[in-house]
Amino acid sequence: MRKQIILPYEDRVTQWYNVLPDIPNGLLPPLDPENNQPIAPEKLGAIFPPGLLEQEMSPERWIDIPEEVQEIFAIWRPSPLVRATFLEKALGTKAKIYFKHEGVSPSGSHKTNSSVPQAYYNKQAGIKNLATETGAGQWGSALSFATQKFGLSCMVYMVKVSFDQKPYRKAMMHAFGAEVVASPSNLTPTGQAILAKDPESPGSLGIAISEALEHAVSHDSTNYALGSVLNHVCLHQTIIGLEAKKQMAMAGDYPDVVIGCCGGGSNFAGIANPWLPDKLEGRNIRLLGVEPASCPSMSKGVLAYDFGDLSKRTPMMQMYTLGHDFIPPGIHAGGLRYHGMSPIVSALYREKLIEVQALHQLECFEAGILFAKTEGIIPAPETCHAIRAAIIEATRDLNDPKTILFNLSGHGLLDLASYEQYHAGELSNYEYPAEAIAEATRHLPKV
Ligand SMILES: *Cc1c(COP(=O)(O)O)cnc(C)c1O
Repeated sequence: MRKQIILPYEDRVTQWYNVLPDIPNGLLPPLDPENNQPIAPEKLGAIFPPGLLEQEMSPERWIDIPEEVQEIFAIWRPSPLVRATFLEKALGTKAKIYFKHEGVSPSGSHKTNSSVPQAYYNKQAGIKNLATETGAGQWGSALSFATQKFGLSCMVYMVKVSFDQKPYRKAMMHAFGAEVVASPSNLTPTGQAILAKDPESPGSLGIAISEALEHAVSHDSTNYALGSVLNHVCLHQTIIGLEAKKQMAMAGDYPDVVIGCCGGGSNFAGIANPWLPDKLEGRNIRLLGVEPASCPSMSKGVLAYDFGDLSKRTPMMQMYTLGHDFIPPGIHAGGLRYHGMSPIVSALYREKLIEVQALHQLECFEAGILFAKTEGIIPAPETCHAIRAAIIEATRDLNDPKTILFNLSGHGLLDLASYEQYHAGELSNYEYPAEAIAEATRHLPKV
């Protein structure tokens, strides 16, 4: 049996799939908090280049991937599709488990699929610097790599708790030539205000987004870049699912269920959206998003207009949210600690086209360790959520020969400290923080 299914370079994916025209009942527009009206594109033009803004609202189903972007993708794409034969055997299941390996990218996760086109379109628009935030450090690493490929400089606001816990992520960003500061920092009004109140603040993704936005609007020739949530990011990630579709066909298989973990939603959208047209045509295929039980935006959040950041500087988007001032517990899957879910994934959940499952971190680490021992890849803690869900699917009925596809969103080689903590028994599950969520959802904007 073939272990790796390699897509030849000649058969590479050269267009992204835009799901917007296929979402039943569509998306509601982002609103300007100043007047509760759909945001004027000029306003977004202050921080995003025209190429990305066009994609954010495009009605076109297929969008060409620029040649320059394809050239850089060739460093690691097409990425392998792998049959997890050893995991199947260890589970004693008749199910076939496939995974798409996004851990082979320069930064070690799927995020480089969007950082490269984002840097490209900013370069096209004559921008010289990008400012961004990073939680666990994966997006910061991905953007650091991409910016220097196009001769841009990169300023990263890294959530303080990760800045202290993950020195090697910081080192990676430095190696790619970026500047990194701990957030909250004393460089922006939001950072200064938070530090004045609490000099020891551990920071959050919401705070870091506010700081990066403030940095972008107060510096010349500087734009802002976001690593998930937005429509153009979900679009860029569809290269994962589009390649996987070709590779599953090469393997002579078709998935019964497609699984991805959900932080802001882009990697799940990337593996899942390309199968949606089949599903809409009546094909029997399940699309399953997995979120952490401690930050259950879809399973326990509300569908509402909310801000993407703590300081309410982003437009309001309709999404499943726990409230923009909800600060999730400090689980180790830092990339899944975001209060909202991308409007695209939220709309698919609203239309009941996808399913959602919330899992606790200990069972996910356990799954990740079994995967490491059997398949030889130590997965990122975020990815462990998808692996755990795949194992649940494969073991529900060991005799059911179903076909499972999940996205291996990243490797965990810079997350080994959390594996050590798991083995030392220092990690615990966080109960679903019902009170904190109830409190935060009381602060949703009125529109
Ligand atoms: C960021 C990240 C995620 C979450 O991705 P979203 O697109 O925001 O849902 C998952 N896995 C890894 C390895 C990540 O770095």
